Amino acid sequence: MPSENLQQIFEAIAKPLRFASGNDYANLKNLRGLEPYVSGWLEKASSLPLHEAQKNLIQKLGATVTGFDGLELAMKKARIMELQKIFQALKSEDLPPPFPPHPWPTLSEFHQNRKDLQTSIQFIKGVGPRLSAILKKKNILTVEDALYFLPRFYQDRRQIKSISQLAVGKMETVMGTVRQAEMSYYRKRRTFELTIGDETGTLVAKWFHFNPRYMKGRFRKGMRLILSGEINLYQFQKEIHHPEIEILEEGEEPSHPEGTSSGKGGVEDSLHFGRIVPIYSETEGLYQRQRLIRRIMKNVVDLFAAKVFSGIPEEICRRQRLIPLAEALRRAHFPDPDEDIALLLEGKSASHRRLIFDDFFFMELGLALRRSGTLMEKGIAFPISHRYTQQLRELLPFVLTSAQERVLTDIESDMRQPHPMNRLLQGDVGSGKTIVALMAGLMAIEGGYQVAMMAPTEILAEQHFLNVHPVVEKLGLRAALLTSSLNKNQKETLYREIKNGEIHIAIGTHALIQEGVEFHKLGLAVIDEQHKFGVMQRATLKKKGYNPDVLIMTATPIPRTLAMTLYGDLEVSVIDQLPPGRVPITTRVFNEKERFRVYRILREEISKGKQAYVVYPLVEESERLDLKDATQMAKHLQRDIFPEFKVGLIHGRMKSEDKETIMADFKARRIHILVSTIVIEVGIDVPNASVMAIEHAERFGLSQLHQLRGRVGRGQDPSQCLLVAKHPVSEDAGRRLRVMGQTTDGFKISEEDLVIRGPGDLLGTQQSGLPDFRVANFLRDFDLLHEARQEAFSVIARDPTLSLPGHILMRETLKERWQERLALATIG
Ligand code: ADP
Ligand code: MG
Repeated sequence: MPSENLQQIFEAIAKPLRFASGNDYANLKNLRGLEPYVSGWLEKASSLPLHEAQKNLIQKLGATVTGFDGLELAMKKARIMELQKIFQALKSEDLPPPFPPHPWPTLSEFHQNRKDLQTSIQFIKGVGPRLSAILKKKNILTVEDALYFLPRFYQDRRQIKSISQLAVGKMETVMGTVRQAEMSYYRKRRTFELTIGDETGTLVAKWFHFNPRYMKGRFRKGMRLILSGEINLYQFQKEIHHPEIEILEEGEEPSHPEGTSSGKGGVEDSLHFGRIVPIYSETEGLYQRQRLIRRIMKNVVDLFAAKVFSGIPEEICRRQRLIPLAEALRRAHFPDPDEDIALLLEGKSASHRRLIFDDFFFMELGLALRRSGTLMEKGIAFPISHRYTQQLRELLPFVLTSAQERVLTDIESDMRQPHPMNRLLQGDVGSGKTIVALMAGLMAIEGGYQVAMMAPTEILAEQHFLNVHPVVEKLGLRAALLTSSLNKNQKETLYREIKNGEIHIAIGTHALIQEGVEFHKLGLAVIDEQHKFGVMQRATLKKKGYNPDVLIMTATPIPRTLAMTLYGDLEVSVIDQLPPGRVPITTRVFNEKERFRVYRILREEISKGKQAYVVYPLVEESERLDLKDATQMAKHLQRDIFPEFKVGLIHGRMKSEDKETIMADFKARRIHILVSTIVIEVGIDVPNASVMAIEHAERFGLSQLHQLRGRVGRGQDPSQCLLVAKHPVSEDAGRRLRVMGQTTDGFKISEEDLVIRGPGDLLGTQQSGLPDFRVANFLRDFDLLHEARQEAFSVIARDPTLSLPGHILMRETLKERWQERLALATIG
């Protein structure tokens, strides 16, 4: 067995430590056998050549882990922290500087470089108007954008093999001539096939998914190609499926391996052959011009890469094994000859690592700064009397769950602080967030302040209003709903009443509240984000001169580790318990053809006095189409299937009054079956509804399905969710439906959602008010995110204003990456 090197040993030790501190140390209780594991690795480390400082630290680690497994949880946590500290020290002890320390630019050089990097891509040789239009579509306007436009694939052309040399089961790169190009059919399945030949044999390239017109026009007999992909064997014939392809230009051949160059000579060769070659985007117009793009990129890299510099301190670079940014960019585009191609393809090479770390580090640095800024900022210390909250408790037909109480305690203590609250309230659908928000609102009102409640849509705002205003009025307070359907008169009246303080709670969409309204004394903003995460509202409010406490509610829980990492500047409270008496919802998936069974279940439930939802998808681009679906289906259900029951219809395009009437009818059981588009996703609360059928379930996202399902299971009786899908469904859709069948736990569901959709989609940085990532990916690079976060937070802990001399360039980079989004924090 090959013996490990120190790096591998470190990685082995880092794993359980990271796990132990994960989930805010919640994982600790599942950690077993740490001592023997770590000691084993330390022993291995001791057998390696080490210097004195390393030996000492290894000894210290060993002593600290001794007896660990028998400790109490709280002690374990302290030990883990200690272990991590020593471990960090050990890691940084080991590392020689990855590159000879290079001179840092001065501040003015730095600024000049920043300016140079904004040079328009049009000025680069080879970029004509057509190409620059294509690049513009990909958001590549400047040379810096181009530098960060990384290859999406790397082809290994260090050694181009002949066909007979290709090994089955391996990733290979081969060159040959097109002998034949044709479409064929295997059992109804269409394929596109290219027969490629060289002196040593033939290879068949196959495509199973393709655009026929494009493919047909693309290849001619006699064309020379370079292909790479995995080699398969099918009936004694070597095949390559969906290969990466590059069409060679007329007269262009590598001088190797044959050694007889008929091509354009040395420089070109070294760019396109005999090396690991970058392949850029699949975008039409770019893909076909690989060689041109490569030349342009080479120019850009040669002229500009050296100007990229972000100012992460040398010490962190050493500890994290970060190569210089300029070097990382150069090698990500044109890898060195000895580079590991597998790491490049996975985005895990030293270059990628450096670029990803950079993305994460500056995000976390901003978050750390924002948090420290918030903590120091002056806010309202609410004098809370519990006059109204006590009355509300007496009015409620239930008692709050202990989870709700715990969260309220957090909120109250925040609100009493003389600093602004900035808290994220996570809770699954139906966990009772609204009432918590209302209690918080009342605490603010007790101190003489007003409350703004912002929802992402008008429907949700209405729903909040319907829930809140009857209660509030019983307390002698006033709530107002701001909708865009108010006429000028009503609007002016409301605005006046808000301005002079007669209205205590103003409810509306983000836009409505942010735009027109002036408050008398705004104390608390409740932001219901549904499943979009935004931290921008606070900044907007501040711009208008308000600095209220902020409570952000989110119905789609994101995994806690991710939330903590992303919202470094938010405190997080979780309602992790549903109100008592909720009966679990049974979820089943049906094929569209079995719809009659679904109807039978609906009929049974309604006969028992229950009510039902039938939901149709509403997809933005085809809204009308789907709307017709829901409308027609409502008619069809009423006339042909359920003539004995009353079927109602509700959708997003109806007037508010009509929606309210329908909802009231449904609540009062005058309607048995409510056909709807996804408007019921939000906020609707009818406990007697015990069954929901979702049509075209394969078209809904996972969190959306979860939200929808949360509309049933609110009463005392068992509920059902019936997912009707058109088979066969795609792989992702199949997985979504399976997950829905397996769990009703919102956390599990969002975690799965993260896996299926990718976090970028779930938390588009656009919405989240975070800087855009250029290379990083939350899920793939989660470990690195963790490291970057620790480093960034410790920098801010030492230098909260980033004014140490070694931090100035880093601060400049930070300002540029975050731009106005850091307005909340105090930074020079
Ligand atoms: P969320 O907004 O978190 O999805 P809601 O605030 O809409 O959940 O609450 C769901 C339902 O549960 C509402 O009918 C609400 O009145 C009810 N509810 C809230 N808290 C409790 C509780 N502690 N006990 C019983 N029912 C509760
Ligand atoms: Mg709600």
